[in-house]
Amino acid sequence: MNQTISNERINQLNNCKINSDGKYVLYCMISARRLKWNFGLKFAVEKAKQLNKPLVVIEPLNIDHKWASDRIHNFVINGMLDNRADFENTPITYFPFVETTKNQGKGILRKFSELSTMVVIDDFPTYFPKIVVDRIAPKLPVKTVAIDSNGLLPMKLVGKECSTAHSFRRFTHKNILPFIEDEVFTSSLPSMNGLRQLSQFEINDIIMKTEYKMTPLEWLWRASQPDDIGINALSSIDIDHEVFPVKSIRGGSKNAYERMKIFLDTKLEKYSEDRNKPSLKATSGMSPWLHFGHISTHEIVHNILKKEKWDPGLVNESRIGSRSGWWGMSESAEGFLDQLITWRELGFNFAYFRDDHTNWTSLPQWAQNSLEEHSNDYKEETYSFEELESAQTSDPVWNAAQNQLVREGIIQNYLRMLWGKKILQWSPDAKTAMDWMIKLNDRWALDGRDPNSYTGIFWVLGRHDRAWFERPIFGKIRYMTSNSTKKKYNLDEYLKIYG
Ligand SMILES: Cc1cc2nc3c(=O)[nH]c(=O)nc-3n(C[C@H](O)[C@H](O)[C@H](O)COP(=O)(O)OP(=O)(O)OC[C@H]3O[C@@H](n4cnc5c(N)ncnc54)[C@H](O)[C@@H]3O)c2cc1C
Repeated sequence: MNQTISNERINQLNNCKINSDGKYVLYCMISARRLKWNFGLKFAVEKAKQLNKPLVVIEPLNIDHKWASDRIHNFVINGMLDNRADFENTPITYFPFVETTKNQGKGILRKFSELSTMVVIDDFPTYFPKIVVDRIAPKLPVKTVAIDSNGLLPMKLVGKECSTAHSFRRFTHKNILPFIEDEVFTSSLPSMNGLRQLSQFEINDIIMKTEYKMTPLEWLWRASQPDDIGINALSSIDIDHEVFPVKSIRGGSKNAYERMKIFLDTKLEKYSEDRNKPSLKATSGMSPWLHFGHISTHEIVHNILKKEKWDPGLVNESRIGSRSGWWGMSESAEGFLDQLITWRELGFNFAYFRDDHTNWTSLPQWAQNSLEEHSNDYKEETYSFEELESAQTSDPVWNAAQNQLVREGIIQNYLRMLWGKKILQWSPDAKTAMDWMIKLNDRWALDGRDPNSYTGIFWVLGRHDRAWFERPIFGKIRYMTSNSTKKKYNLDEYLKIYG
């Protein structure tokens, strides 16, 4: 490979030519919302230098998507403040754009692209960024390229979706080393030497021609606060205000880095032993920042490899496809990398190759058949969507998990599995359970609307799993109970906080 960005990360979205009269190269940052380990940014810098043009970065935050809320706005705007500060030390011109009235953002990408030489945009396989990449970006009037910064393996490398974690892990072990060598053991930032910078006069001209409404810094700061100041600033925007900002999980690359450091310094060592224990908060908690691209998995992996003093010579080829033993690292580091790489990227792989990744049809046939066969089974206990959303069930463990989701925008992983299984048990039928899980998770979870949202939710319904003993309601789908969870893990502390 031996180049900064592998070809598999590059997707040409249209057949338009480079506009050599354009004023700048445009990078539209819609999912990799960061400066470091950002392949879209690296690619855009390289192109700008080759074409001898300045680079403009626009980071939009729209309101015309289904789950726009105070929670998401607050988190992303926090990230914009970090990005604003980070770009100030570079020759790149950065425009954060928060849509504050309906349709204000409509056409903004087109207007910026009309003045540009070419456009680079982030590739992302789910939700709103996918719509932008699939439907809006290909119609821009200049050459437009989507770059995949999502994970260690480029999404399209496998060539098809993997139905099991095992097959994806095998593929990963066989193919990952060149990517680690070229993309993890490399500079986190593009070299900006020789990159032209726009003058203030040129910037003013762009602002005038694109009719860009500069989001005032003072407003950004207020909207980034997780308390009444932020809530007041966001109150005039037409988004879901019931989904309030989370005080304990604040967006931005700086907070992401802090969280990563705390995890690596104090928790990684006991990850394998403690990750399933809800009361201990033993996992990294990185999923919200990973979802919004405030931190890259490359940065996390880079730090783990350094901490473990790892080099490719430690790889044990006889362990290809195994959950442990292939890397030649400590058990906990390997366990964590299996979640961060195998499970996380399996979700990106599946969403990339399956447009129906949020639909019933994406389930394996055995799971669809079995759940349909049991759709009329008698249910002792059922709840409405509203009862579930407001955590009014007879099960204190489930209610606590739902409370954590509403309060903090996250549920501990083991309880997240149980949370989903109980929704399957209590909903009118499995298709409704699927819809309700998606609605609850996408609305309240900070890390929702992610490829892994659908990996998790559809895992509850049998995707990436095997058939188990047949039983009522669940059919051959794996079954979980709150009682066995309580027996397995001490939930006292968890129930005290969220119960
Ligand atoms: C019903 C259900 C819904 C889920 N919804 C989401 C979601 O909306 N967004 C989301 O990112 N994850 C989701 N997951 C997967 C998992 O619960 C979270 O990724 C994990 O709990 C995040 O916590 P952490 O960052 O502390 O994870 P850690 O254990 O610290 O792991 C590090 C990273 O690895 C990845 N990861 C860990 N576990 C999994 C997993 N089981 N599947 C896929 N990737 C994983 C995540 O990116 C995570 O941040 C869901 C799982 C279930 C069962």
